[in-house]
Amino acid sequence: MDLQLNGKSALVTGSTAGIGFAIATELAREGVRVTINGRRQAGVDAAVDRLRGLVSGAEVCGFAADLSTAYGCQALAGACPQVDILVNNLGIFDPSPFASIPDSEWQRFFDTNVMSGVRLARHYLPAMKAAHWGRVVFISSESGINTPGEMVHYGMTKSAQLAVARGLAQDCAGTGVTVNSVLPGPTRSEGVAAFFAKLADEAGIDEGEMERRFFAEARPTSILKRMIDPAEVAALVAYVCSGRAAATTGAALRVEGGIVSTIC
Ligand code: NAD
Repeated sequence: MDLQLNGKSALVTGSTAGIGFAIATELAREGVRVTINGRRQAGVDAAVDRLRGLVSGAEVCGFAADLSTAYGCQALAGACPQVDILVNNLGIFDPSPFASIPDSEWQRFFDTNVMSGVRLARHYLPAMKAAHWGRVVFISSESGINTPGEMVHYGMTKSAQLAVARGLAQDCAGTGVTVNSVLPGPTRSEGVAAFFAKLADEAGIDEGEMERRFFAEARPTSILKRMIDPAEVAALVAYVCSGRAAATTGAALRVEGGIVSTIC
């Protein structure tokens, strides 16, 4: 299927690793000019080189900025003023008991996971509307509709992204710009793989057994019963960004292995 993406431009936030890097790679394979972002220049440079190695002829550049701040978002928007596709992938997680999460952490999660996408959408949407074509995708989570008790602050930000995406889709009515959210389930990104390795080490079991216990005890409704590959999330995101997906907007699209048991 031709996704009709050749020659488009995209910014993928938090994309030096994990799901973001997989999305950047998939878009580059479709002929999209991609801007990669992470906090540190060395990590951004390494990701740009890695992507060029994976996709021959890829048009890719990078910009280091901490998008948890208004200043970082402004700097990125200044360096990369216009794109056809914005993928708000950046997101942090940190399992913590509710009683021990201070105000500062609630604020940091909100700034990083929600305000980064709000600020960037506010910058890029006017030109997308004027061009009568644009795609904005928020990478939320199944945690957005299935709040995890072990990280309520994270779940709050993922629910907020769903609300922002739905409202922005309505704000873009009739413009040719679509706004959607994508809800991955547990995905083997570098960050999550390191977290599971630490848990396995602490429990004195191997990572395979850790994964089996996770799905038996923490996510028993999973139909997939395994971690998702970042490329499996990226495939859905590439479709949502495509010309083929013009009629999909205001939607919350799940790629979470069936954990959420409601039908729609
Ligand atoms: P990850 O931790 O593997 O990737 C982190 C990326 O974000 C890196 O590129 C890092 O440089 C960048 N980053 C971190 N803080 C930053 C900041 N302040 N400014 C700019 N860049 C920053 O992440 P992941 O696991 O691939 O998750 C990506 C998205 O998918 C997140 O929004 C996450 O909530 C969502 N998600 C992940 C999973 C999962 O199991 N991995 C499940 C559901 C949803």
